[in-house]
Amino acid sequence: MSFWWEQLGGLRRTRDPLGAPLDCDVAIVGGGYTGLWTALELRRADPSLDVVVLEREACGFGASGRNGGWLVGDIAGHPSPALMAAVRSAVDEAAAAIAREAIDCDLVMGGTLSVATDDVNAARVRSEEPGEWLDAEALAQRVRVAGARGAVFDPVCARIHPAKLARGLAGAAERAGTRIFEGTEVTEIEPHRARTAAGDVRARWVVRATEGYTPGSAIAPISSSMIVTEPLPAGAWEAIGWDGAETMMASAHAYCYLQRTADGRIAIGGRGTPYRWGGANRAMKRPDERTIASLRARLDALFPDVRDVPTAAAWTGVLGVARDWTPAVRADPATGMAFAGGYVGEGVAAANLAGRTLRDLVLGRDTQLTRLEWVGHTSPRWEPDPLRWIGIRTVYALYRAADRREPRTGRPSRFAWLGDRLAGR
Ligand SMILES: Cc1cc2nc3c(=O)[nH]c(=O)nc-3n(C[C@H](O)[C@H](O)[C@H](O)COP(=O)(O)OP(=O)(O)OC[C@H]3O[C@@H](n4cnc5c(N)ncnc54)[C@H](O)[C@@H]3O)c2cc1C
Repeated sequence: MSFWWEQLGGLRRTRDPLGAPLDCDVAIVGGGYTGLWTALELRRADPSLDVVVLEREACGFGASGRNGGWLVGDIAGHPSPALMAAVRSAVDEAAAAIAREAIDCDLVMGGTLSVATDDVNAARVRSEEPGEWLDAEALAQRVRVAGARGAVFDPVCARIHPAKLARGLAGAAERAGTRIFEGTEVTEIEPHRARTAAGDVRARWVVRATEGYTPGSAIAPISSSMIVTEPLPAGAWEAIGWDGAETMMASAHAYCYLQRTADGRIAIGGRGTPYRWGGANRAMKRPDERTIASLRARLDALFPDVRDVPTAAAWTGVLGVARDWTPAVRADPATGMAFAGGYVGEGVAAANLAGRTLRDLVLGRDTQLTRLEWVGHTSPRWEPDPLRWIGIRTVYALYRAADRREPRTGRPSRFAWLGDRLAGR
């Protein structure tokens, strides 16, 4: 699974599967952050609603139990100022709910650093990322990153332990009165109905919250992989600094993301092999050796003091990506079918926003949330393989080529531009 779950003794099903057909008000398919925030918000808003979560494996099996642990105020696509403001305030909203529900998930509101290790990236992060520019010297006061030209610091981000948050949210949703069934696969969603081997769940609303596991051509599963070190010795932490637990991105087109864990390790993630034929990467148990080696090389280059600290674990997961790389929340009162997802790599805070938005849509409320432009957004469908396979792999090959060229030439690379066009971003 993931190091995060290993730290909690492994991911196990602790709830019974559905044993018989059922009628309820809202059936939620998928027990990740999206499904669990939605369930919690609905029950808190209207305790008379019968809300059921149907999870194929165990809650937190998907990206929610495997991610980089950035509760970050950012969202994929080209958000309007209103949507951007909503996702930024979702960081505080989520943190407040986590405190209210007494979920211990190692949360530290330390902000985030977009570190640039060449001049082209320095110019890019300064123009694209929200926050304050720290030159190399100011950055070194916080964290010493080899070869850094500087970083943009954005205070709107918290470091979290992903599996602790998933486990805590499932408990909170249950305490609020949600029924959760694990080991329960939904084989088909139809208007007002989710089909399972134990029979149909009939509901006024059926919410699909299956993200990278969504079948069909609406969402592509794109892999992201991570490694984590053993705890660093005190001497290494003295050399590095990083006392504020800021999350960190080493900015590049094929960027990597890092966190300092609560127990003094460094976790680093990146794309690796992004897609396999037919979405076979959904079932991948472990990243391939090349991906592990390249993440390790990236880590050692950024923090030479970590070179002798062994890698403790490696894992991989899938994120959900729509054809225009734009997330969406949808709810159709006529069919009772609803969906939220397509967050790309920024789903931790966005899932909280989606949960509150689905709550309002299901309850028929007209609010600021239901008027945000991602509500009702429909993306084009993905091409079938082999076009999808060729396209996704070409985009990432172009990004890697741009990353090799830009530090040498000192100019933005056309490869990156081409990658963005091909991706339809
Ligand atoms: C390695 C990695 C690192 C990431 N890092 C970050 C980060 O630092 N910050 C950030 O904001 N985002 C990050 N993301 C993205 C973020 O984790 C996801 O966007 C978010 O967790 C999505 O939550 P979800 O509930 O929508 O989907 P998931 O957590 O994937 O949950 C979907 C659930 O649906 C279940 N399911 C699927 N099919 C069925 C079915 N037929 N019947 C019943 N259940 C089903 C699955 O078992 C799963 O539990 C990362 C993702 C990955 C993979």
